[in-house]
Amino acid sequence: MLQIDDFPKNELEFHERFNTEEACREYWVQTRWPDGFICPHCGHKGGWTLKGHEEIECANATCGKQTSPRAGTVLHNSEKPIRAWLLAMFHMSINKQGISALRLQRLLGFGSYDTALRWLRELRRVMAPTAASDKLGPEVEVDETFVGGVQPDTKGPYVGKKLVVGIVEKNGRGCGRARLRVIKRRDGATLCGFVKEFVEQGSIVCTDGYQGYVELAGMGFVHDPRTTTSGKGGNSSALKIEGGTKVVEIHLPRIHRLFSKFDRIVASAFQGNVSEEHIQSYLDEECFRFNRRTFKNPLKIFHAVVTRAVTSQCVPLWKSRGREAPDVPTKKATIEWKLMGSALQGCSYNG
Ligand SMILES: [Zn+2]
Repeated sequence: MLQIDDFPKNELEFHERFNTEEACREYWVQTRWPDGFICPHCGHKGGWTLKGHEEIECANATCGKQTSPRAGTVLHNSEKPIRAWLLAMFHMSINKQGISALRLQRLLGFGSYDTALRWLRELRRVMAPTAASDKLGPEVEVDETFVGGVQPDTKGPYVGKKLVVGIVEKNGRGCGRARLRVIKRRDGATLCGFVKEFVEQGSIVCTDGYQGYVELAGMGFVHDPRTTTSGKGGNSSALKIEGGTKVVEIHLPRIHRLFSKFDRIVASAFQGNVSEEHIQSYLDEECFRFNRRTFKNPLKIFHAVVTRAVTSQCVPLWKSRGREAPDVPTKKATIEWKLMGSALQGCSYNG
């Protein structure tokens, strides 16, 4: 069993450790079943890998069914080596701004740019926060901003900017973990719903004086709204009475720092106008790395991606290729979904 303590600590060690398809498959299986293989068909513990194959055969003689370690995971529809997938995850996690589809295509020698793009979309999807992710707290800042967009005329206004709501934990003077979501409307239901989804009940939620947040107090949060007096440079300041004198205090500094960071990244990544869905997946990827930026061993970010990938439900091929759903499910698709459903049983989630 691969212990996290002797996990590769740098690129050299990574390539030494994962230098064969066999080593990569073994790591994938260990990550998927950390307490040993559990047959998804009968629940029996134990099995063996068939020589020259990826499939694991159930050790229960009355069952004896074979399970692919790819079934039901991100690799479900892929015939490419597990090693190639691990390399893609490695580059996405170790580089501060991820990897472009063109670079991935060249690194892995794909014939098509679309394949690289699909892989990146799949991996960004697994990096999105899930319901099982830890909730933020005990004190957070929440605000909204616009990101992206294009400037058709050098002196004209930006168009196509996307509205984003963000939460960041207060950690002393700095930031803890963050969540970002592209939203269509800036109404109370959307904003408070987002806070409810990702913030621990009872936490202190600092916002500006916007009306959309007033319902937070009735939802089990300690709402700390501050009346905005100016909004220059993206920062809003609040008036605070201290010892009888008015003090202008810059507030929500963490979330604004985070917004400007992500706005720069999105601006450099998308020189054109892109869909909300793509900006969202991009923000999820950035947030995933941002929330793990303090890891001493950067390869633990890679391990976190793999841990998510082995337990993330795969999406149908038509969806991952950005196509419309077929009117009539194909026979192959039906079999795939059945297999996926059974293969997911017994998986553990620890990401
Ligand atoms: Zn079995």
